[in-house]
Amino acid sequence: MDQNNNCIFCQILAGKAPAAWVIEKGPVVAFMDIFPLRPGHVLVIPRDHHPLVTQLDESTRGQLMETGNRIARAMRELYPEGTDINWLINDGKAAWQHVPHVHLHLIPRTGRDNLRFMGRIATRFLHKPDMAQFEADARRLRKLL
Ligand SMILES: [Zn+2]
Repeated sequence: MDQNNNCIFCQILAGKAPAAWVIEKGPVVAFMDIFPLRPGHVLVIPRDHHPLVTQLDESTRGQLMETGNRIARAMRELYPEGTDINWLINDGKAAWQHVPHVHLHLIPRTGRDNLRFMGRIATRFLHKPDMAQFEADARRLRKLL
């Protein structure tokens, strides 16, 4: 596998950093974002390290979307009050990409959650990483996949 030791996602993939896994096997995996913008925020990433979407091979790029789709379906089932989802890829530094490894954000939204994307940094500090909560969220999603 094509990995980069300086990349936090590659470290997670190598088991050197913790993650609450939603999908752990296969060329595209998913885990709970450790700095969730909303509860239930999931990251979907290819196993191979590439910074940009255009650098993925066609099959992996397709699987990124299909894996996102499986999780999005589970999210809508999990939150019966009705949840919409931001599918978000920041592709390159100027486009707010902080980790240079392709990742698809799936952020569950309701009409009253007041999330503002320009407030991203402040929001990160409002939600402290809570691994027990992430594990519980990941387990609930896994059951619905
Ligand atoms: Zn990486």
